[in-house]
Amino acid sequence: MKNVMWLATWTAGFLPMLAHAQGGRYDTMTLEEKVAAGAGYHDDSAEVIEPFRILGNIYYVGAADVSSYLITTSEGHFLVDSGVNEMPVGIRTNVEKLGFKIEDVKILLSSHAHFDHVQGHAVLQRMTGAQVMALAADADALEAGKDLSPLSFEGWEPVKVDRRLQDGESITLGDTTMTPTWVPGHTPGCTTWSLDTIDDGQRMNVAIFGCNGPNAGVQITNNPRFPDLAEQTMIGFDNLAKLTPDIYLTGHPEAPFANIEHLMRVQVRPHPLLQQQPWAEMIAERRAAMEQRIAEEGR
Ligand SMILES: [Zn+2]
Repeated sequence: MKNVMWLATWTAGFLPMLAHAQGGRYDTMTLEEKVAAGAGYHDDSAEVIEPFRILGNIYYVGAADVSSYLITTSEGHFLVDSGVNEMPVGIRTNVEKLGFKIEDVKILLSSHAHFDHVQGHAVLQRMTGAQVMALAADADALEAGKDLSPLSFEGWEPVKVDRRLQDGESITLGDTTMTPTWVPGHTPGCTTWSLDTIDDGQRMNVAIFGCNGPNAGVQITNNPRFPDLAEQTMIGFDNLAKLTPDIYLTGHPEAPFANIEHLMRVQVRPHPLLQQQPWAEMIAERRAAMEQRIAEEGR
């Protein structure tokens, strides 16, 4: 796992150390070197696991450490993140195992335009006929098939974006409304999706958290390609701090699910994810770590 962890948004807290330990900044790496470093997302992490209901109408249909979330409604379904190239067929199998039809996926969303979250988009768009929607700032990358973020990593098959959304522009299917919060920094249009779901008779607000500031190895201050990256990153944290989810889900769920997946699978209540670090505290901690990283760049 270590070789891929530097890429995971979830582990950004200790990523700078890891980048250091491996000698130097990743923005000096060639694409081939980056691909080698991210190879884990194409093998063990990309193996699709048995699907399960997380809570309410939200299901896990993704891989061991690359997420894909199905949100079902009476008017068709949302799918958030398509994973890497290796995953779309497994995602379809998982949707069907849960008793749903893949062609009922009507809207395909993404947490952000990095290969490990959108590489399967074009295939899943063909499989489902779904409309692809994304915040405008990530739509360019989706359509270009290129990672246009500061990371500049692997690309994907270009995908037509049917609708470009603005920050806070909600979309509804049946009784479920998904609201995008713009969290720039990790990618220009990184998005945390929020929704209300009814679980065990209780209304719960859930955030699908995709954005945690620039990847390790990215120069944040004085970055010639992204001169306002530090400001953008802080706008992202400001926007995250406005959210108040009861539960949050992540793009790389292996660690947060590790000790509770078996409990979630048998639908234990109160929900095991209510034990996670409270959102406000988690965001404040990550912001502080990012501010420290920025300060260290200035030394
Ligand atoms: Zn990413």
